[in-house]
Amino acid sequence: MGVDQLIRQEILGITPYVPGKPIEEVQRELGLEQVIKLASNENPLGPSAQAVQAAVQALTEVHLYPDGNCYLLKEALAAHLGVEPAEIVVGNGCDEIIKLVAEAFFRPGDEVIVADPTFGEYAYATQLMGARLVKVKGEGLAHDLEKMAAAVTPRTKAIFICNPNNPTGTMIKRTALEEFLARIPRQVLVIIDQAYFEYVEDPVYPNGVDYKGDGRVLTLRTFSKIYGLAGLRVGYGVGDRELIAYLNRTREPFNVNRPGQLAAVAALRDQAHVVRSLEVNREGKEQLYQGLAALGLTYIPSFANFILFATPYPASAVFQALLRKGVIVRSAEIFGLPRQIRVTIGTRQENERFLTALATVLEELKGGGLA
Ligand SMILES: *Cc1c(COP(=O)(O)O)cnc(C)c1O
Repeated sequence: MGVDQLIRQEILGITPYVPGKPIEEVQRELGLEQVIKLASNENPLGPSAQAVQAAVQALTEVHLYPDGNCYLLKEALAAHLGVEPAEIVVGNGCDEIIKLVAEAFFRPGDEVIVADPTFGEYAYATQLMGARLVKVKGEGLAHDLEKMAAAVTPRTKAIFICNPNNPTGTMIKRTALEEFLARIPRQVLVIIDQAYFEYVEDPVYPNGVDYKGDGRVLTLRTFSKIYGLAGLRVGYGVGDRELIAYLNRTREPFNVNRPGQLAAVAALRDQAHVVRSLEVNREGKEQLYQGLAALGLTYIPSFANFILFATPYPASAVFQALLRKGVIVRSAEIFGLPRQIRVTIGTRQENERFLTALATVLEELKGGGLA
């Protein structure tokens, strides 16, 4: 008997995650030196210098297990957010919190509602637990909260709201979210993923933490995006303390590493770095909007640090051609969008290099009969 006879059926249903290509891999495989990565919505300025210093300091103590309770980080987050430490769960990235929610709450037969397209980890965690994923397509690729609410059945266990949504960059307004919450039955969990919270400058953008009193609302945030600590894996969830206690019971005892915890505390303190990152993003967004429009390409206005745009050619062909020029972007094929590309907003120089490469690639593909 082989392992194929032993494996859980749920695992066979999972589509393996395809990460953004690492810079080192492209350098190795294509023999290129100057490679830029605009594929995983990382902060092009890198981490705060203070966060790096804290992580280095923590490295001298890695013979000790990390604080399983993340005391210092939860204290710092509680003060920053205006909540109690008991209302926060910290994870090995926000991805872990998504998985914890699934492990704690999802069972075979449960239904979990997500938008289409949206972040892939919701589908992964749902399938892992043998629950059923219900995808709801919206107009113009945005969340359709009306349709999502209408998809609720007595079997619905949870709904994931990604705001701003990855990969579209679209935003749900406060009024729309509140009308939606009022319509959703009390026994349904609502997870509001705000991985790009710090990038949104629109006053009508809702703060998920405001709804923690609701009991079944969990808000997710991360240090991977504007805080520039993706490689250290620190994310967190904020919600009602009973909900948080269940997630803490489910998680592994030492799920967040020591350098990560201390770097996150320092990063939170260095709000000047956040402000700088926001400025670079604001300027880069304008630069890319203008550059894409000049190439005759349509894009979705974004509230985050990435832009989804349509190409006249298969996204995989554009992706591969850009790769050969040392520019890594994300083909949106994995999101079910075969002619869209998601590009992370980089520094002025990176954006320029991307736009120049894209212009050349579109010229090259014009003759190729791929349209
Ligand atoms: C990047 C991202 C995350 C994952 O963040 P980590 O903390 O790095 O695990 C979660 N949700 C969305 C929508 C993201 O784009």
